[in-house]
Amino acid sequence: MTAQYSYSFNTGDGKNKALLGGKGANLCEMTQMGFNVPPGFVITTQTCLSYLEQKRLPDGLMDEVRAQISEIERVTGKHFGGANDPLLVSVRSGSAISMPGMMDTILNLGLNKQTLAGLIEETSDPRFAYDAYRRFIQLFGKVALGIEDEKFDTHFNNVKRAAGIKADVALSADQLQEISELFLMVVHEETGRPFPEDVYQQLEIAICAVFNSWMGKRAIDYRKEFHITPDIANGTAVNIVTMVFGNMGDDCATGVGFTRNPGTGENEMYGEYLVNAQGEDVVAGIRTPKPVHEMAKEIPEQYRQLVELRNKLEAHYHEVQDYEYTIERGVLYCLQTRNGKMNAAAMVKTSIDMVAEGLISKEQALLRINPELLEQLLHPQLAPDHTNKPIATGLPASPGAACGHCVFDADTAVRLAKTGQDLILLREETKPEDIHGFFAAQGVLTSRGGKTSHAAVVARGMGKACVAGAEDIKVDVRARLAIVGDIHIKEGDLITIDGSNGNIYLGRIPTIAPRFSEELKILLGWADEVARLRVHANVDTPETARLAVSYGAKGIGLCRTERMFNAADRLPLVVDMILAHNTEEREAALAKLFPIQRDDFEQLFEAMSPHPVTVRLLDPPMHEFLPNEHQLTDELDALKHYLTIVKGQRVTLDTLTNAGDLPAPFNRLNEDVILEAIAKKQMMLDKVLELYEVNPMLGHRGVRLGMSYPEIYKMQIRSILEAAARCIKQRIPVEPEIMVPQVITAQELKKVKGYVDEIQNEVESQYKIKLNFKFGTMIETVRACTRADRLAATASFFSFGTNDLTQATFSFSREDAENKFLPLYEESGLLEDNPFETLDIEGLGKLMKMAVDLGRQQRPELKIGICGEHGGHPRSIRFVHNLGLNYVSCSAPRIPVARLAAAHAKLLENKPI
Ligand code: PEP
Ligand code: MG
Repeated sequence: MTAQYSYSFNTGDGKNKALLGGKGANLCEMTQMGFNVPPGFVITTQTCLSYLEQKRLPDGLMDEVRAQISEIERVTGKHFGGANDPLLVSVRSGSAISMPGMMDTILNLGLNKQTLAGLIEETSDPRFAYDAYRRFIQLFGKVALGIEDEKFDTHFNNVKRAAGIKADVALSADQLQEISELFLMVVHEETGRPFPEDVYQQLEIAICAVFNSWMGKRAIDYRKEFHITPDIANGTAVNIVTMVFGNMGDDCATGVGFTRNPGTGENEMYGEYLVNAQGEDVVAGIRTPKPVHEMAKEIPEQYRQLVELRNKLEAHYHEVQDYEYTIERGVLYCLQTRNGKMNAAAMVKTSIDMVAEGLISKEQALLRINPELLEQLLHPQLAPDHTNKPIATGLPASPGAACGHCVFDADTAVRLAKTGQDLILLREETKPEDIHGFFAAQGVLTSRGGKTSHAAVVARGMGKACVAGAEDIKVDVRARLAIVGDIHIKEGDLITIDGSNGNIYLGRIPTIAPRFSEELKILLGWADEVARLRVHANVDTPETARLAVSYGAKGIGLCRTERMFNAADRLPLVVDMILAHNTEEREAALAKLFPIQRDDFEQLFEAMSPHPVTVRLLDPPMHEFLPNEHQLTDELDALKHYLTIVKGQRVTLDTLTNAGDLPAPFNRLNEDVILEAIAKKQMMLDKVLELYEVNPMLGHRGVRLGMSYPEIYKMQIRSILEAAARCIKQRIPVEPEIMVPQVITAQELKKVKGYVDEIQNEVESQYKIKLNFKFGTMIETVRACTRADRLAATASFFSFGTNDLTQATFSFSREDAENKFLPLYEESGLLEDNPFETLDIEGLGKLMKMAVDLGRQQRPELKIGICGEHGGHPRSIRFVHNLGLNYVSCSAPRIPVARLAAAHAKLLENKPI
């Protein structure tokens, strides 16, 4: 049996978007439901694929097209290519999902010298007919024959100028006739052939043009950008539809509408229309359309029909629709409908409303919203009507918009923040020692680093806006200057950054505050009822913990204790601990840190009570807490220089009589103080050199620190357990979990568990209570995955650290990969996605599965979660749901996204990811 190439709107399967395209399927569905759709037919996407492969239209297609046209002629009484009452059609592309990269619509196809005369006779309106003709020649010329618009526009404008006419509507029939003839000449000149007179030839050329547009650059780029793979949309359909005219008089109109307000979600008539106009006029902005409510007064009968159409569309599609219509001589035709695209707030509101109206189920209400959309709701956004142009663009590293005065280092940021200024911390890149600058600033901008650079990860954790890796900006901290092209940004200048798209602007752009609406709370409540995965937060302070709770977190999945070490009152103690010459000195420094850490944990447990709090023992290499080598060398040079000056002044003073009586400050110059400072800096520098590692992220870090310096881990364990004991004493329910990073062998875990057991005994007898807590490990090395059964013998929980595990699986260093070669890998298709953003299910996913299986073989009740960046990513959440994990943990602003994604994961668990 030969394949069928086309389906009339009366017979096409309205559910088969893959075959008929979204537009075609909807036109079929609407026709079969009795909506007033102009007669037409769809040529299938299969036919498109066959055309592209064979490089010609399949045999028999045009015979089918002729039969379809005959049927339209029969129904409408019009004649395609006929001298009287001619049938004109529109030709439109349409793939399985709406894709702006493809072909524009051709209108009025079927006009030639003969049919034009027929149209004039039929309408008694030569102006209308010539207007339709010149539009057709230009559109066909441009879209189907590839002639630039300019070639037509020059003639069009010349005629207008010669006639002294400004607006197109003022052109007479004669002038439009002149223009049509000039346009025919343009086509002849440009293609070397006369404009096709045969209407079937016109149609055939148009069909080929639609098919070819599928492989046009715009369409290919669009598919790449939005990850539209062949299983989502493959080939385009062609829709051939009887023309109806909104420009035949005052009982005609054309318009576009949404079944609800797409800005607010309000259930109301929404849209714009124009009387006596063609759709093009609305789109091209030639005339200003009127709000649809005015139609109620202007053409009330048609308004009533429109309200009816709108109600029927929603009742049928159970979804907000974005539709187009034309009214020809008082009769309303629906030309197109598709699901409406709305902002996050409107999506949430319409979900809640449509459930209340009985239009959709709660499950549909959850599934119709893309979880990623929700992040919009938790960050300030730039006022949508701003018209500023960005001066540079970096990576959208942490969403939200922020505006403030530029500041080039963290200390200055803290000082300026005290004066109440809004700030943007602008650095080449950030390091843990800049953390106080993050707290002080509204947003962070770096000229180096990727979306998982320190700046990005920390900013996301804090829910602050961040643009990273804006390489066009040259930062010169010493000159307190940043340069973009010929623009100089000085310290104190106002800038605005948009972490949602990476744009950077000069000056202040107003922002709109985020809103966690009642409707969002209801929706996420439904999500929690459905989801099996729990959602925890990656946070390290009581404030962010409370924020996470308000977003619906059910625990802390990762508290990175090193973040606590960086606060201004602790860093000097940490430095003393690192500079210690021996265990006693280190223990003395740790003893000072201990009560501070214990208080931190106590507050954190309280903020998260009664939910679990997973505290990770120290992870980063020690040198991260010390200034870098270059900075220290600079400072030493400065101190030595200062010492020379002081010595010189001393010599000067000594040569003067009565020097001893000189007033301050001369009498207080003290070389000893400077010498002491030099000695301390030198010691730091020596330590930095001693701690130097070629590959620090693969070096002396994580549990390896706990093996070399047990006293550090012991101090942290004691802080956690004493904090828990203190909470219990105050009857605050707590569920602490101690987590060890970077583990590769069960021996490491056993050793740390030994410290834990010993300290547990001491704390329990000291506080006279019983402690209830868990001991577990991160899974972030390949060996941990392959030896997970052994680890599970000691660990009662696992948490996948997929940031490090991705680095380990790919043998990529995160920063280097994102800065250097990953963009190329993605662009050239060597890798489909950035594995640091999208969990590599095919590769790393296998390791995870192995770890889950081995771990649960050993300990069936093993609790397993994920706390890498992927824990807040919907696709990864679906994967880990199917893997049987218990929870995901992500930064606070991702929590609503993760809650909805967890519900999707459950509802879609039997569908391919
Ligand atoms: C991880 O490796 O996934 C993780 C959470 O740890 P960090 O990002 O702190 O290295
Ligand atoms: Mg890690």
